Amino acid sequence: MEVTGINVISHRFRGKSSTLEILAKLTEETGEVAQAVLLASSAINKSASGDATKSQANLDHDVREEAVDVMLVALDLFFRHGGTEAQLGDLVFYKSKKWLKKLKEDS
Ligand SMILES: [Mg+2]
Repeated sequence: MEVTGINVISHRFRGKSSTLEILAKLTEETGEVAQAVLLASSAINKSASGDATKSQANLDHDVREEAVDVMLVALDLFFRHGGTEAQLGDLVFYKSKKWLKKLKEDS
């Protein structure tokens, strides 16, 4: 596989961890984004005060950072299983259209 652009991250870590370990990492990152979303929701942030010293902008930034962590780990899985950058673009387009169609059907 040609190593360029976004798949360089996956290539660098390949061999250092198994697919199951990467799956565990994805679960960990999913938990982190969930925690960030809960903290960023105003009701939780004001009542729980677990991270009330952070501004809403900083809490929203944390959500974006954790969402990117999830994406990077998911991309690692995608490339480990033979995905290419071209396939990534095609699949994102295809799946987006599929999800949009489903959203329209549900509304
Ligand atoms: Mg994280």
